[in-house]
Amino acid sequence: MPKQDPLERARNFNEVAFGYTPDMAIQEARRCLVCKKPICIQGCPVGIDIPLFIKHIGEGNFKEAIRILKDKNLLPAICGRVCPQEEQCEIKCVIAKKGGPIAIGRLERFAADWEAQEGILEVPDIKKNSGKMVAVVGAGPAGLTTAADLAKMGHKVTIFEALNEPGGVLTYGIPEFRLPKAIVKREVEYIKKLGVDLLLDFVVGKALTVDELLQDFNAVFIGTGAGLPWFMNIDGENFNGVYSANEYLTRVNLMKAYLFPEYDTPIKIGKHVAVIGGGNVAMDAARVALRLGAEDVRIVYRRSRQEMPARLEEIENAEEEGIIFEYLTLPVKYIGDPHHWIQEMECLRMELGEPDKSGRRRPIPIKGSEFRTPVDVVVCAIGQSPNPLIPSTTPGLNIGKDGNIIIDPATGKTSKKGVFAGGDVATGAATVILAMGAARVASRYIEEYMKTGQW
Ligand code: FAD
Repeated sequence: MPKQDPLERARNFNEVAFGYTPDMAIQEARRCLVCKKPICIQGCPVGIDIPLFIKHIGEGNFKEAIRILKDKNLLPAICGRVCPQEEQCEIKCVIAKKGGPIAIGRLERFAADWEAQEGILEVPDIKKNSGKMVAVVGAGPAGLTTAADLAKMGHKVTIFEALNEPGGVLTYGIPEFRLPKAIVKREVEYIKKLGVDLLLDFVVGKALTVDELLQDFNAVFIGTGAGLPWFMNIDGENFNGVYSANEYLTRVNLMKAYLFPEYDTPIKIGKHVAVIGGGNVAMDAARVALRLGAEDVRIVYRRSRQEMPARLEEIENAEEEGIIFEYLTLPVKYIGDPHHWIQEMECLRMELGEPDKSGRRRPIPIKGSEFRTPVDVVVCAIGQSPNPLIPSTTPGLNIGKDGNIIIDPATGKTSKKGVFAGGDVATGAATVILAMGAARVASRYIEEYMKTGQW
C-alpha cells in the first residue's frame, strides 16, 4: 500500500498510508483462494465472512463487499486501519507462506473508503419499535457497537458520553495520521442515523449514577474503557514536562494542539523527548512528538524489539520516521531544574531472563549500569486501567483487582441486574475489535433480558 515519504510525513499529521487504488484492491483480492472451509474467519472476533467480501472486491463489486463487511462490522474503515490483522485473520490465511497472507485489513479499508467516496450511507432495516429503552455509557467502539446493534433491533438507545466528542480512544487517543477523525465522525453519523441519541459532556457517576439510569431505562451497558493512566511511581514523575500518554494524546488529538494557532491548546513541544513503553500507545505518542517538532524522540523500553506489544507495522513506521529505539532500558528517576521542569532522566540497562507470566522474557537490571540522558518532555505510556468513578458509585457491581468490571464474557452480564459491560472496562486495555466483539455479545443478551426479564 503506498505511503507518504517517511521524512515528509514525520513533519505532518496527514494520514501515513494512502490506501489501495481499485486496481490494486482487485489484484490483491484475486490472490484469495476463497477457501471452502475458510479459517481466516475463525481469526476475526466479529466473524466477518472474509472470503465472500474479498471475492466481491476481486469481481469489482465493491458495493456488495461493503454490505457483507457491515453485516458483521459496524466500523470497517476504522478496523481496516487499526486492527492487528497480522495476529488475527491474516495469521490464519493459508497462502501466508506463498508470498504473504491476503491483505485482509487493507481490503476492508479499501471497501469502506470506496463507500465513503461514493457518498453512500445505506441505513439497514430497523425493526419495529419495541418500547424498550437502553442507556449506553461511553461512546467508544464498545458503546457505539452496542448502541447500533440494539437500535437495529428496534430499541430506543441513548448514549451518555463524558467527553465533548464521541469515539473514545478513536477520537482522543489514536492520532490523525493513523486514523483521520473525519472517518470516526462518519461512522458516528451512521449510528445516529439509526435513531440513537447521543448526549455529550455527560459524566455518568457524577451527573447521574447507574442506579438512577436504571430507573428510566430497561437496561444499562457500560463501555467506559480504560482511561486511567499508570505511572511508574519513580522520583520526579510530577515534574513539569512529564505527561501520561493519555493526557498528551488528548491534548493533541481531542483538543487539537497540533493545529496551533487555530487551536491554542498548551503543550510542551520539547527538544529531547522520551516515551516510556512499547505498545501502540507509545508508538503514537512518539510519532506525535516528532510531528510537533521535537529534535529527537526516543522510545525507552525495558525489553527488546521482539517483545514489543505494538503492531509491527507501527514499529516499522516509527523506525522509518526516525524515532530512536532505546531497548533494554528502564528509567529509574527524573531530575528537574530549579523551576520544576524535567531536565534529565536516569536509566538502568537491562538484560533478559526467563519468561514471566506473560510469556515474555523478564527484564533484569544490570548492576551499576546507570546513566543519565537530557530530556525536556517525557511521556509515560506503560498502560492504563478502567476509571474508578462508575465502580465507586455503583453498589453491587463486582470489580476485579485491576479495577475492571467483572462480567460473564459469554453474555456481558455484570453482578448487578440489568447492567451489562464490555470492552476495555471489562478486559483492561485491549483492542478495538475485541471491544466491538464483546459489545456484540452483550447486545444479544441485553435484548434477551429485556424480553424475558430473566437474569
Ligand atoms: P474507549 O475507546 O476507551 O471508550 C470509552 C468511552 O467512555 C470514552 O469515550 C470515555 O470518554 C467514555 N467514558 C468513560 N467514563 C465515562 C463516564 N463515567 N461517563 C460517560 N462516559 C464515560 N486498538 C487497536 O485495535 N489497534 C490500535 O492500533 C490501537 N491503538 C491504540 C492507541 C492508543 C493511543 C490507545 C490509547 C489505544 C489503542 N488501541 C488500539 C486500543 C483501543 O483503542 C481500545 O481497546 C478501544 O478503544 C476500547 O474501546 P472501548 O469502547 O472499550 O473504550
